[in-house]
Amino acid sequence: MRELKCRKEILDIKPYVPGKPIEEAERELGIKGIIKLASNENPLGPSPKALKALKENLHKIFMYPDGSCYYLKRDLAEKLGIEEENILIGNGADETIKLAAEAYLNPGEEVIIPSPSFSEYEFAAKLMGGKCVFSPLKDFRLDLDDMAEKINDKTKIIYLCNPNNPTGTIFHRDELETFLNKVHPGVLVIVDEAYYEYVVHESYPQTLDFISQYPNLLILRTFSKIYGLAGVRVGYALGSGDLIDDINRVREPFNVNMLAQAAAKAALKDKDHVIKSKEINEEGKKFLYRQLDEIGLAYWPTEANFIWVDLKRNCRDVFEKMMSKGVIIRTGDIFGHDSFIRITIGDQEQNEKLVRVLKEVL
Ligand SMILES: *Cc1c(COP(=O)(O)O)cnc(C)c1O
Repeated sequence: MRELKCRKEILDIKPYVPGKPIEEAERELGIKGIIKLASNENPLGPSPKALKALKENLHKIFMYPDGSCYYLKRDLAEKLGIEEENILIGNGADETIKLAAEAYLNPGEEVIIPSPSFSEYEFAAKLMGGKCVFSPLKDFRLDLDDMAEKINDKTKIIYLCNPNNPTGTIFHRDELETFLNKVHPGVLVIVDEAYYEYVVHESYPQTLDFISQYPNLLILRTFSKIYGLAGVRVGYALGSGDLIDDINRVREPFNVNMLAQAAAKAALKDKDHVIKSKEINEEGKKFLYRQLDEIGLAYWPTEANFIWVDLKRNCRDVFEKMMSKGVIIRTGDIFGHDSFIRITIGDQEQNEKLVRVLKEVL
């Protein structure tokens, strides 16, 4: 009998390690009131407008959703000042990462990935049988010069994460422009802007301005982070009409569910919720910077809703001890940095608990 074998390309895909859900940790430890500052979720929760839209649409779920996401695309196009044909809505930005690889990456072609960065790029590339070429960060910032030097005839996709997860650092407008001018138009450049709305730095590139000039540029954003809708799964990709058309070919007809579409559309209209979320994040950032300075821990200035901290000791020990005291954080070992942690900026109460527990454990 013939053995059932999976595709050899998928054998070295490492399963995604998610932040531990609160319920699971509480069950395991037999304690209550655990806080999770591990997955960059919005401490404010979703917009009340999104919740209302969800409730109003519940009775419709026996029907298929609008496969074209007509209304969400229309509202996004209006808000961003672009056309609907430049937008692709995904089941989270994660899905758009996978779809882009499915549409463009041939087996054996190369992708360039910063390291450490978001794990989905490697996943999507390996899924398609692509070869991952890693570019180490320089002082925990993307090294765009190094990435450009790694381009060769086999390069098909380059992933840029801005702000970068897990470090929170950004590259600037002039750096991106220099980089894009070095990239052959036959190479797809994906700029992942999952934390776009949190950025305060004035040199952060407004990448949308570039999509007409660079038809090989794809921008990713999401409703999971500042909009607080991670649980319903909705994100989007922006790019030239040709890019979006190609990627649309591999999209499932009903990839974004009806509730996600309704919630995202309502969330877009709640500007106050976004402003408030950003304010809470800025306050939390300043508070945590002060506290980390006081403890004497090194961290990297962040443009996102999380901070990359060097503990100068094994992160797993600290993680386990912090969890037993009711705080879940992200360890750096999964990003290849054993002495680091990534902490999500929470609300004031959460941040205070985080600092208290961190001090106790250290
Ligand atoms: C969270 C995150 C995403 C994924 O967002 P979803 O829309 O929830 O799939 C994409 N990229 C980065 C860098 C992220 O941190």
